[in-house]
Amino acid sequence: MGQRVEAKCLNCGAVFTLNLGGGFSFHLLRCNKCGKEKTIGFDELGELHLRYLKGLKSPYSVASSSYDRYVQEIVDVEPISEKEYYKGVEEIAGKCSCGGNFKFDAPPRCPKCRSTKVEKTKIITMYD
Ligand SMILES: [Zn+2]
Ligand SMILES: [Zn+2]
Repeated sequence: MGQRVEAKCLNCGAVFTLNLGGGFSFHLLRCNKCGKEKTIGFDELGELHLRYLKGLKSPYSVASSSYDRYVQEIVDVEPISEKEYYKGVEEIAGKCSCGGNFKFDAPPRCPKCRSTKVEKTKIITMYD
């Protein structure tokens, strides 16, 4: 689901690594001001994640399908929509030290000049 890539900044030429996409046990968010990455494990989300699973019609992933089904059938929590869930995860992620907010849809930025003009040059590893 996710990949670690080598990227290049088209503005200043810096080369750096980026993580794109979360895995099946964590989310990857990015600061909307500086681009800093933050990962949040599903286990850190507690009931929020359970409520999201409950709201899904099918298992979240094949790897966790028996657990997901258990939550959907047995656990007694109020289901929430995907939108509410993402908002809740962003709230838990909180603020970056630069004053920005960690968001799902914030673009990757160059760690040197903060430009969003970054180009993926090579895939280093895939993870999920
Ligand atoms: Zn740059
Ligand atoms: Zn930041």
